[in-house]
Amino acid sequence: MDSARSWLQKLQPRDKLRSSTRKKEPCSGGEDDSNTDEEALSNVTKQKAAAAKQYIENHYKEQMKNLQERKERRNMLEKKLADADVSEEDQNNLLKFLEKKETEYMRLQRHKMGVDDFELLTMIGKGAFGEVRVCREKTTGSVYAMKKLKKSEMLRRGQVEHVKAERNLLAEVDSNCIVKLYCSFQDDEFLYLIMEYLPGGDMMTLLMRKDILTEDEARFYVAETVLAIESIHKHNYIHRDIKPDNLLLDRYGHLRLSDFGLCKPLDCSTIREDFSIAPNVNGGPQNDERPAAPKRTQQEQLQHWQKNRRMLAYSTVGTPDYIAPEVLLKKGYGMECDWWSLGAIMYEMLVGYPPFYSDDPMSTCRKIVNWRTHLKFPEEAKLSPEAKDLISKLLCNVNQRLGTNGADEIKVHPWFNGTEWEKLYQMDAAFIPEVNDDLDTQNFEKFEESDSQTQSSSKTGPWRKVSF
Ligand code: ADP
Ligand code: MG
Repeated sequence: MDSARSWLQKLQPRDKLRSSTRKKEPCSGGEDDSNTDEEALSNVTKQKAAAAKQYIENHYKEQMKNLQERKERRNMLEKKLADADVSEEDQNNLLKFLEKKETEYMRLQRHKMGVDDFELLTMIGKGAFGEVRVCREKTTGSVYAMKKLKKSEMLRRGQVEHVKAERNLLAEVDSNCIVKLYCSFQDDEFLYLIMEYLPGGDMMTLLMRKDILTEDEARFYVAETVLAIESIHKHNYIHRDIKPDNLLLDRYGHLRLSDFGLCKPLDCSTIREDFSIAPNVNGGPQNDERPAAPKRTQQEQLQHWQKNRRMLAYSTVGTPDYIAPEVLLKKGYGMECDWWSLGAIMYEMLVGYPPFYSDDPMSTCRKIVNWRTHLKFPEEAKLSPEAKDLISKLLCNVNQRLGTNGADEIKVHPWFNGTEWEKLYQMDAAFIPEVNDDLDTQNFEKFEESDSQTQSSSKTGPWRKVSF
C-alpha cells in the first residue's frame, strides 16, 4: 500500500499547488472568467484523482489477494507432499517448480501485456468467435496458445458472461486436468486469452484419425475426463459443453479440459420431450413427419459422421451431439449434464460416431430428448456388457444418471475395474503423440490463413490408422 499512498501524495499536492500559485499570479486580464473554468478544471482533477485512487486501491487489493492465494497454494502443496510418500529431494523440486510457475504467472500478470508482445505463429483452431494460434512471447521466447475472441461477436451472442467465466475458471483452478490460463488482455476489437500450448492435439482430431478406440484405450481417456470433470465440479462449475474438441492432449498424451464458458447450444426450446414441436406461430401443430433417415451400417454411419464432423465443429452453432437433454430443453440443469456428455463421448470412442448422430443438427436434438427410443448399440461394434452398461447409466434421466451423487459413483463402475485413479496422470498415455519441438503443430489440422476451411485431410498425421 505504501507506493499507493505515495502515488496519492504526488497527485494531491500538485493539484493544491497549482490552484494556489494561480491565485497569486499577476492579473493578466480575464482572471474572473477563468474562475468557473478553474472550478470545472478542479472538479475534473478531483474526479481523476478519485478514479486513480480507486484504481490503485483495487490494484493492491487484487495483489494482496493474489499473494494470499499464492501462499495458500504453497501451503496446500506442502501439506500434500507431507502426506504423500515423496522423497525430500522430490519435495524440494516440486516446490521449486511451483515457485517458478508462480513467478512466471506473476510476471505475465504484472506486465501489461498486449498482442504486440507476442509473435503470432501457426493457427491451430478456428471457432465461432475467433481463432487459436501458437505464439511466442517476444522477450522470453516462451511458447503459448493464444485464443483471440471477437468482442462484437461475443456481445451479439450475449456470451460476455460466459467468456468472463471461462477466463476466471481457467485462471482459478489449478489442476493437472485443466488447461492453464496465464493472462488475458484486450484491445478495441478482441479479447485475448494466453494459455499453455498443448501440442498433442485434441480428442476430435485423434478420433478422426483413429476411427475407433479399443476399450482399453477408451478407458484411459474416459477416466482422465472423469477426473477433469470432477475437478471443475469441485469448483462448482458446470462445463455444459464437454465434447472431444474441448479435450486437449499434452505432449505426453494426457488429457486436459478446455474451452470453458463458450457453450454454443442450439436453441431447442421449441422441442418437447414427446418428440413433437411446439405449435407454430399460426397456432397449428407443426408437422414433424419427415422421411426416415436412411438405414446405414456402422461403417457407413461412421463415414457420414466424419464427413460432417469438422463442418459441425466450426459452424457458428457447434454440434449438439454431446449436449444433455435437460440442457437442450432448457429445463434447468445441474452438474449431471457433464456426465451425460461423457457417456456420449465414450459411445463415440467405441462405436465411431456419437449416439444420436443424425444428418441435421435439429434431428440430433430430437433424438437426444427422446433418447429412450434412439439409444442403440450396433452389433458390429461388439461393445462389452460393462461398457454398454456404463454408457446406458450415463445417457439416461438425471435421477438415474451415474455421477449425480459424485464422481465416485462412476469410478467404481465395473468397466473401470483395475483403473488406478490416483496414478493415471503418472502413467503412460494410451497414445503418445509425436511432438518434435515446442512449436510443433503436426497434431492439429492445417488451417488456411484467409479461409475458415481446413486444408488437409483429417486422415493425415501421425495417428492415421492403416485399415479399419
Ligand atoms: P472454440 O470456442 O472455438 O471451440 P476452443 O478453446 O475449443 O475454442 O479452441 C478451438 C480449438 O483450438 C481446440 O479444439 C483445439 O484444437 C485448439 N486449442 C484451443 N486451445 C488450445 C491450447 N491451449 N493448446 C492447444 N490447442 C488448443
Ligand atoms: Mg471448443
